[in-house]
Amino acid sequence: MILGLPVSVAGCKDKIIWHYSTNGACSVRTGYGVAMEMQANGELGRKGTGGCSRRDEGDHCWRDIWDLAVPNKLKLFEWRCCNNSLAVRVNLIRHRMQVDSLCVMCAEVDETEHHLFFECAFGRVLWYCCSLQLDMGCFGGRDFRDYWKGLCMRFRENNRYEEVMQECVFVLWRIWKSRNDMVFNGVFVNPMDMVHVIWKQILEFRVAQCVERGDPDECKMGQRVIFAGQPVRWGRPPFRVLNSIAMGLGVGNLAKVAADSERSGSTAAMAEAAALRPAVQVCIELGCQMWR
Ligand SMILES: [Zn+2]
Repeated sequence: MILGLPVSVAGCKDKIIWHYSTNGACSVRTGYGVAMEMQANGELGRKGTGGCSRRDEGDHCWRDIWDLAVPNKLKLFEWRCCNNSLAVRVNLIRHRMQVDSLCVMCAEVDETEHHLFFECAFGRVLWYCCSLQLDMGCFGGRDFRDYWKGLCMRFRENNRYEEVMQECVFVLWRIWKSRNDMVFNGVFVNPMDMVHVIWKQILEFRVAQCVERGDPDECKMGQRVIFAGQPVRWGRPPFRVLNSIAMGLGVGNLAKVAADSERSGSTAAMAEAAALRPAVQVCIELGCQMWR
């Protein structure tokens, strides 16, 4: 290990640093943090509770977050929500920023994480209209983490627990993105439109996971809905077929239809659509089954 240490090219002297802090200086605060983490992980002679952050209470909250079947950025987003470190307005004010404290979406209550995601009317519509059909009025809590734990407990025994919690995080993420659309672009999105976006993103993620594993047939979620048994990826047709479609129909037919449309006064878009129609018909006859 010593031999593996890089030698300084500047020739500075060796010194002892506390590598748990960013500046290398040891402090009681960082020492306490390290001790608490070691205790939780059983490194101080007691059985630990696994990976944790602050406020660990022996529950599975943190482990549940890192085990979620969602993209890593959504895990980090969820972790920040549970730590009250998301850039909602109340937190911004806590960091001495001069902003209005009211919720961006309803302008009625202070914008905290638990209000924005679980109590605000916009979020409640999403929760109810997504496939989970959750009435957030049945949940309660002092902060985001209480609500999140309530969700976990509600579905803990469900045999689709992983899928359900995955959808929960995608709903939270969409609420956050919609809120940011309002803040930065001044656009109030329709929650019903967002329901479709959520489901589309979930399915895309699930299919991507299947492709990554290299065995789309084992995809239990998503593929049967999107692709109805078809291959996940588009398969290139044989060279001659592709050639005939592109040259014989795509180019040739477009030129013919363009000439016709010029005589009839059609728009360019109409001419392109008319040119593509026979190409699509031929592809159907050739047995191409997937159109994307
Ligand atoms: Zn609100």
